[in-house]
Amino acid sequence: MPLDESHVQAAVVCAKKLGIQLRVRSGGHDYEGVSYASEMGDPFVVIDMSKLRSVIVDIDDNSAWAEAGATTGELYYRISEQSKVHGFPAGLCTSLGIGGHITGGAYGSMMRKYGLGVDNVIDVRLVDPNGKILDRASMGEDLFWAVRGAGGGSFGVILAWKVKLVPVPETVTTFTVIKTLDQGLTKLLTKWQQVAADKLDENLFIRVEIMPGTIPNTTQKTVQALFNALYLGSANQLLRSMAQTFPELGLTKQDCNEMSWIESVVYIGGYPTGTSTDVLLQAKPLFRNYFKAKSDFVREPIPEAGLEGLWKKLMEAESYIMIWNPYGGMMSRVPESDTPFPHRKGTIYKIQYVATWMDGEVSAKSSMAWIRDLYQFMEPYVSKNPREAYVNYRDLDLGMNKDGNTNVNEARAWGLKYYKNNFDRLVKIKTKFDPENFFRHEQSIPPLSSPNRKTKKDKKNHYHKLGKHHKGKGC
Ligand SMILES: Cc1cc2nc3c(=O)[nH]c(=O)nc-3n(C[C@H](O)[C@H](O)[C@H](O)COP(=O)(O)OP(=O)(O)OC[C@H]3O[C@@H](n4cnc5c(N)ncnc54)[C@H](O)[C@@H]3O)c2cc1C
Repeated sequence: MPLDESHVQAAVVCAKKLGIQLRVRSGGHDYEGVSYASEMGDPFVVIDMSKLRSVIVDIDDNSAWAEAGATTGELYYRISEQSKVHGFPAGLCTSLGIGGHITGGAYGSMMRKYGLGVDNVIDVRLVDPNGKILDRASMGEDLFWAVRGAGGGSFGVILAWKVKLVPVPETVTTFTVIKTLDQGLTKLLTKWQQVAADKLDENLFIRVEIMPGTIPNTTQKTVQALFNALYLGSANQLLRSMAQTFPELGLTKQDCNEMSWIESVVYIGGYPTGTSTDVLLQAKPLFRNYFKAKSDFVREPIPEAGLEGLWKKLMEAESYIMIWNPYGGMMSRVPESDTPFPHRKGTIYKIQYVATWMDGEVSAKSSMAWIRDLYQFMEPYVSKNPREAYVNYRDLDLGMNKDGNTNVNEARAWGLKYYKNNFDRLVKIKTKFDPENFFRHEQSIPPLSSPNRKTKKDKKNHYHKLGKHHKGKGC
């Protein structure tokens, strides 16, 4: 657990010298655990960045430096301590590590207005494979481009990000409206798909959380959706805007909660009403459970017949959540090649599918089988060639580097889904900055040729030597 930057440098230099792999963990939210576990078979150590978590906000400069171990909640809180009219557009969940989260894109409830976290990064400090600390000026624009969206663990250890703050009004409005199938959910979602990205005010972000529910006043199982929203403005402005573009939701003044932006972070983060904003400094996840997640991007509205089929699939499961996040606005104006994150113009919304369970191995197999089947069912309705996926929702079903080896052609299987045409540029940059492929994991960006390609026999010999080498040899 490094206590300062030089400890991270020492860890990189030592690990390289000893031929040990590194895993880097900031907030530990990786969906497949690649920040602290490995299926690649190499011995590894974990650099846990959680003690490097300072956040320095400079309101005059409209910026903040946040160390990798700080959480999104801490960053938002520290900004709000200095100003009620500044914010930062990154994750809705407040326990994400800034280090890993921003490397993959980082979307949140202000993405339609201001884009992603990566669109608002202005500098970075990173330890490269030689143990050297680089910033934007010394690494050059290629590497600076790559680290803003390629996902973590491929190019170096992020020490800190410098981010640009964005303006937020003193009063914002939130709401959550719940609708079930018998309350006309299918028709509402048909309309939501038509307006959520292209027609709604950019100050408004209405995401949909679909989950099991019961028909009101009965115990009969159904599907329900929470329309959960942030509006950057007052309730009256919001009601006027909704009356013009999405009256079908039936939003009323009673549904609207006016608050400060930092209070909205707590609300959207899912904490119970009345929770103090101090909770953002606790850096604790809101819930703990087992889950398997997958993602998709939708470019054409799913027709009603498709939605009806989807409801049938969802009714088969005990415990799941499906989240639809609207795009449009700023997300459509940033070109696909500006950062490695390519899911921009033409995307109406992103789907996240999550199967959840509490009893470990007992339900793991059936839950995994269910979500894979659901993913297959959704194929006709989502993006094609490639079927896009969000790298921050890492999914090893899409493919992975095996046995410590990487191969560009094999990595295309998931690389094109995560990065589309940006994949080849990422491979070139990897080849230039980490030709020995020191920073690698199950879905890391591969260099053009893989110098660490090893047979099982090579590995056995290497571990044997490593054992001897280790004795009495401090780095
Ligand atoms: C409950 C929950 C809610 C989420 N909500 C959102 C959301 O609202 N928006 C969104 O965009 N995403 C969201 N995510 C996804 C999240 O962005 C990713 O899981 C992200 O990778 C988490 O970063 P971390 O530092 O917490 O995770 P970690 O597990 O620590 O790291 C994730 C990846 O980044 C690498 N990494 C970590 N730290 C560093 C570093 N310092 N330098 C280089 N590489 C590093 C790791 O090796 C790993 O590959 C959510 C995830 C969860 C579990």
